[in-house]
Amino acid sequence: MSRRREKRRIADGGLPPGAVIANTSQQIHVSPYGSAKKFYVDIHFKCKDCGVEDVWTGSQQKWFYEVAKGSLYATAVRCRPCRIRFNEQRGLQREQMDAADNAKQEG
Ligand SMILES: [Zn+2]
Repeated sequence: MSRRREKRRIADGGLPPGAVIANTSQQIHVSPYGSAKKFYVDIHFKCKDCGVEDVWTGSQQKWFYEVAKGSLYATAVRCRPCRIRFNEQRGLQREQMDAADNAKQEG
């Protein structure tokens, strides 16, 4: 039994294939006339650290903008491993700074 209910018809707004519908009320609005995103599509980008090609998927963007409340101007610049490394390094730097402060206090 094959159910052929192709929902190919481009509905109101004309969403591209694979688009994830956005919940604009969950987005952080920077300006009232804004750049609210009505939907998310996969973004292909090159990691700024290692140059690898990666994809920021529509559903990842939905999470980032609506759950993590990321800025609508922010976009993916690093692949996943580089992002993790970047975050770890920031954590390390903070620890090193703490260590330096302690050292200063010791005299
Ligand atoms: Zn990378």
